[in-house]
Amino acid sequence: AVASSYRGRFAPSPTGPLHFGSLLAAVASYADARAQDGVWLLRIEDLDRLREVHGAAEAIQRTLRAFGFEWDEPVVFQSARRDAYDAALARLDALGLIYGCGCSRAEIAGRARVGLEGPIYPGTCRDGLAPGRRARSLRLRTATEPIYFKDRIQGRQGHSVAESIGDFVLRRADGFHAYQLAVVVDDAWQGITHVVRGADLLLSTPRQIGLQRALGLPTPSHAHVPLVLDDQGRKLSKSLAAAPVEDDNPLPALRLAWRLLGQEPLDDAASPRAFWRRAAATWRIERVPPRLSLAFNVR
Ligand code: GLU
Repeated sequence: AVASSYRGRFAPSPTGPLHFGSLLAAVASYADARAQDGVWLLRIEDLDRLREVHGAAEAIQRTLRAFGFEWDEPVVFQSARRDAYDAALARLDALGLIYGCGCSRAEIAGRARVGLEGPIYPGTCRDGLAPGRRARSLRLRTATEPIYFKDRIQGRQGHSVAESIGDFVLRRADGFHAYQLAVVVDDAWQGITHVVRGADLLLSTPRQIGLQRALGLPTPSHAHVPLVLDDQGRKLSKSLAAAPVEDDNPLPALRLAWRLLGQEPLDDAASPRAFWRRAAATWRIERVPPRLSLAFNVR
């Protein structure tokens, strides 16, 4: 048989235990990889040491194991990848695509129009820092043309980054590399061909495609899994209902995730192992709804 070239990944941030919304994305990503005989990787996105919760990276791996997930290569930790992100910044700098910005958040908020994702950077430092100002962050000079992509679940998506957020930050004032940069560098380095993740990142995708083009990197295929909202329509990850999933009772949560993903119920699987054997054979991404029609309360 010809080996599949599919390489997928799950990339949680260790800001707490795995909650149900992340489990839904992990289940979709794993099922999609296994259904195509692909490789599936785990990457811990522990760039932001200020938001990291002690022990969360281990807890997430424990939960994933209890739920029957198996990753095919050693876990990659972004905290060990800083040199690679600096190399990408050097490359963008050589291309004249980044600049130092001296603006504080408050200064930007005072001057900015509000776009799809909050304040649009008004370009204050684009042509150089005002005298006496010091660079705090590094920003990408974004193109104005819209960037479109075909999402396997959400259909055609896209917008102009200049109209949604403007020149965005690649290295923050506190010295940490930004998620947008790290995710692009690592997806390319790990040879990721298929990104399956939560729809909270849908608006980030044009930024990431823009960066891939600037760096001469391939763009993977995308599928954004619908968000689980709580009974007040809030994003699960922001609500009190962001309950951690229980390691010692994985099957009910796996079955619920599977059902929410629009798949044929696998309610008779008696273990996570049996569940995944059947799941890999029956997964159909075409059945995943772009949005969940019911506000689900998983408490
Ligand atoms: N680390 C990001 C998060 O937990 C996900 C990154 C990705 O899948 O692209 O939200």
